[in-house]
Amino acid sequence: MHFYIMLFMIVAFVLLVIYVAKVAVLDFEHRADADVLQVKEAYSKIIQQKDAMSAEKKLLQDEAERIFVLYDLTREITKTFDEDEAFRSFKEALNKQLHVDDCQLVEGLSDQVTDFPSFKGYKFFPLKSKRVVLGELAYRGVSEKEEEAFSILAHQFALALRRIKLYKEVENMAITDSLTRLRTRRHLSERFEEEFARAKLRNAPLSLLMLDVDHFKRVNDQYGHLTGDMVLREVGRIITQSTREIDIAGRYGGEEFCVVLPDTDKAGALQVAERIRCALADQKIKAYDAMLYVHLSIGVATFPEDAIQMEEIMDKADWALYRAKKLGRNRVVGFSVYGE
Ligand code: GH3
Ligand code: MG
Ligand code: MG
Repeated sequence: MHFYIMLFMIVAFVLLVIYVAKVAVLDFEHRADADVLQVKEAYSKIIQQKDAMSAEKKLLQDEAERIFVLYDLTREITKTFDEDEAFRSFKEALNKQLHVDDCQLVEGLSDQVTDFPSFKGYKFFPLKSKRVVLGELAYRGVSEKEEEAFSILAHQFALALRRIKLYKEVENMAITDSLTRLRTRRHLSERFEEEFARAKLRNAPLSLLMLDVDHFKRVNDQYGHLTGDMVLREVGRIITQSTREIDIAGRYGGEEFCVVLPDTDKAGALQVAERIRCALADQKIKAYDAMLYVHLSIGVATFPEDAIQMEEIMDKADWALYRAKKLGRNRVVGFSVYGE
């Protein structure tokens, strides 16, 4: 009997030990699972953060590249005062940063341009600076998500275009006589020198006209200086109108003018001079309350038939002008060795 009680107790003890051990193992497993879960969560958080950082890095890289392209474009564009060159730099920057099928610079108003059949399927970007439209960019094949990048570069180009146009305006102002809109004496002399050298090199003729308004002092005396100024402006307009794009017309001083005629022999130059003289003589000039006619005397000299040195050509044209005055004004005189 004692033996059975002992056996029972031993079995009960063993069972208790097994049970306690099992509970302990289960508890340990449970805790280990929880730890693994925690580590997994932490790991996935790290992965998420890494992905977010990679995305941010990519954004920053793209942004940096955009800024570099913009910086390069600005640097290249500010080097030039030539519109075509600036446009080439702009197109290079475009191609570096985005895909574009075609992009053209068009001058003129947008409604005229957009109607143009060859621009079918194009979009238009007005190049504006301080509300002044300087032209249009006609472009094709830029995706919607790259439109913003396109417009940033296009704005930069618009600024450059404005700067170039302003520079040209200032340059033009410096070589233009403010009253008559003809070239200044200094610019005329420089251009005359260039054209003279070119004529010599090519053995081509070149003529010089010297023009002087007849009895201009009387105009001032009779109508006043302001009217006189308006008359000079009209004389400038008529000289411009009666000459070619390649001719260089300038105000030599006061009421005296000069026109350099490249590639023009004596006969051609006499014709041009006569055309200017007649155009002015036929024109009734309205200046303020006055209506008046004015006339021109014109002297003509030609390279190489009259002289082969520039200064001599000027002297001879001046001599011919003096002759025109002497002979009664309102006339054209060509230099001649036979003239008295
Ligand atoms: P001629 O037929 O011999 O050339 O006589 P002229 O009266 O034209 O010549 P003169 O040299 O005696 O006078 C030129 C005048 O032109 C005198 C000057 O006051 C005037 N003049 C010069 N520059 C200007 C200007 O910018 N505006 C005005 N209104 N007059 C000017
Ligand atoms: Mg005069
Ligand atoms: Mg004079």
